[in-house]
Amino acid sequence: MAAVSEYFGSLVFDDRVMKANLSAEVYQSLKRTIDEGAKLNIGVANAVASAMKDWAVALGATHFTHWFQPLTGVTAEKHDSFISPAPDGRVIMEFSGKELIQGEPDASSFPSGGLRATFEARGYTAWDPTSYAFIKDRTLCIPTAFCGYNGEALDKKTPLLRSMAALNQQALRILRLFGNDTVKHVNTAVGPEQEYFLVDAKMWEQRRDLRFTGRTLFGTKPPKGQEMDDHYFGAIKPRVAAYMEELNDELWKLGILAKTQHNEVAPAQHELAPIYTTTNISTDHNQLTMEIMQKVAARHGLVCLLHEKPFVGVNGSGKHNNWSIATDTGVNLLSPGETPYENAQFLLFLCAVIKAVDDYQDLLRISVATAGNDHRLGANEAPPAVVSIFLGDELAAILGCIEHDAPYTSIDTGKVRLGVDVLPKFPRDTTDRNRTSPFAFTGNKFEFRMVGSADSIACANIMINTAVAESLRVYADRLEGAEDFEAALQSMIRKTIQDHKRIIFNGNGYDDAWIKEAVEQRGLANYRTTPDCVPHLLDEKNVQLLTSHKVFTKAELVSRYEVTLENYCKTIRIEADTMVDMARTEIIPAVQAFILDTAKTAAAKKKLIAGCPCEYEVKLVKQLAILTDQMAAKADELEQAVLALAGAGDVAKESAAIRDVVLPRMSELRLACDEAETLTAKKYWPFPTYGDLLFGVR
Ligand code: ADP
Ligand code: MG
Repeated sequence: MAAVSEYFGSLVFDDRVMKANLSAEVYQSLKRTIDEGAKLNIGVANAVASAMKDWAVALGATHFTHWFQPLTGVTAEKHDSFISPAPDGRVIMEFSGKELIQGEPDASSFPSGGLRATFEARGYTAWDPTSYAFIKDRTLCIPTAFCGYNGEALDKKTPLLRSMAALNQQALRILRLFGNDTVKHVNTAVGPEQEYFLVDAKMWEQRRDLRFTGRTLFGTKPPKGQEMDDHYFGAIKPRVAAYMEELNDELWKLGILAKTQHNEVAPAQHELAPIYTTTNISTDHNQLTMEIMQKVAARHGLVCLLHEKPFVGVNGSGKHNNWSIATDTGVNLLSPGETPYENAQFLLFLCAVIKAVDDYQDLLRISVATAGNDHRLGANEAPPAVVSIFLGDELAAILGCIEHDAPYTSIDTGKVRLGVDVLPKFPRDTTDRNRTSPFAFTGNKFEFRMVGSADSIACANIMINTAVAESLRVYADRLEGAEDFEAALQSMIRKTIQDHKRIIFNGNGYDDAWIKEAVEQRGLANYRTTPDCVPHLLDEKNVQLLTSHKVFTKAELVSRYEVTLENYCKTIRIEADTMVDMARTEIIPAVQAFILDTAKTAAAKKKLIAGCPCEYEVKLVKQLAILTDQMAAKADELEQAVLALAGAGDVAKESAAIRDVVLPRMSELRLACDEAETLTAKKYWPFPTYGDLLFGVR
């Protein structure tokens, strides 16, 4: 078997391949485009396209596609072949610079949230040269942005790139104020830890809820769940190990730095973490990772569930978004420095994040709002819907001293009064982990834990980048005009701590007492559901933020609002319809069959033993008869509730009706069916149970 270092990135048109296949002149010109955003001329594009095609064809590719990320959350591609007819009746393989730079897929089938109603049905894809092209399924995939006729972003990549540009611009202003003239570019980096479940494909096929909605809509907890904590970091089962091995190989070929893998807390749950990289590339890689995870699973007779909450009563899945800011000179701006001077700069960036998270808690919550993720957030599970920041005791104590101008006792220096030029050396404590915090500082990065496992990380990073860019803008405006830089810096840091300390919480985020304190005493937002939070996307302050940094236009924001709520409604409608269908055509008939056989048993007993009371059968039949009526009635009610949605009017009203009427009916129907499951003999139950699914892969 070949060494990983030999095939890592073998399907990627990366820097090494570019250098080897492009003339020095073309390579330099492309590099300028990649690193500095310089415009690419058509001659260079033609040369790059031709080299890309030759490279891809040599590796067996026959088609190319502009690979993009529409608002559906998954990736899209439309394949074109390289084939072009030659005069001699044969074909030649062609690919032009124009085809590389821009594509024109029919956009009408992608959601646009009304953007296209006022414009044209056409959409454009534009090459994003900062993310390498790669080969997948014998197709050369070119990462692209996707926009409408007038440049409106119809995808997630465009605003992400804009938010990175906004942060770069403001962070550079701050660095210049600290006398740094060498840094040319500041980027954010992300390492997303991806959680997922693996279930047996044969069992999955028998469950329509899993097939249609990605989660179980019925099912009672097995006697053994995660209470023994024996799965977490436990030995990986052979079938899962074989899956992980192949998955790593596939990801490595695509240049994805899949690094760690282990079991998670819940049975059948696992995690994959890549090594962090530039946010934009990390986002592309995470989309690819999710796709490859599902493909490889199929080859192993498994199904990879990316849903946030596939099983009730069992931990859900998230995606921990590890985020940091770094300069092109390799300095992590969230890493406490060695000198007091570096520390002051670190403190300022730290404060920028604290202020950003407090000012835009709502946007962070909105950025992860989906029907699936609502089952995790706001449901007494990791992490809560209330956004707060964990800093650890040491850092919190330092900030407390700065706030009150009080002396701080450090191990190195003893008691010191803190100031910009007298700051303690921060201990880089990465061991102090608070797993319950939605936004935790972990030594030199922040870990945003609210992202759903199935979601693109683009939305969350757009909001984090932009909110932090805004903090830095405010700081830079003030500091650039200050007469005494150090005094201004000191007072600004103090003021940030005073104004925003309410967002800092180092305790247990699952605790009900915390939610109460957060909401009642600290005034933090607690949006439990998607319909609760998404309308706030259009709040004046949020529109102001996102448009002033040129991340979204107002029209684009309205479109995001529409699409997010539309997705929510569609998702739950499908779930509701699936439930009604499964209850009527699978569960109720199964219970009836069991009732009939139980009644027959009682009759047979009576025949054998005159006067036999058959108490057990009678009681069971009675209970199940009542439940059957309940299930049928609840299915009718749910069906009615879904039908009534047609008159809701707009998407805000419809999503509210779903939250208030449809979801409670779904719970009621489920309750009756789950109770019937506990009373019905296993062989009658029409599909695999939780026990089968969670412990079925060995
Ligand atoms: P954990 O204990 O949470 O697994 P790790 O140190 O293994 O912590 O990191 C988890 C993720 O964070 C990985 O994807 C890793 O690449 C990423 N990460 C580490 N350092 C940074 C950083 N400076 N910026 C962004 N992500 C980072
Ligand atoms: Mg982590």
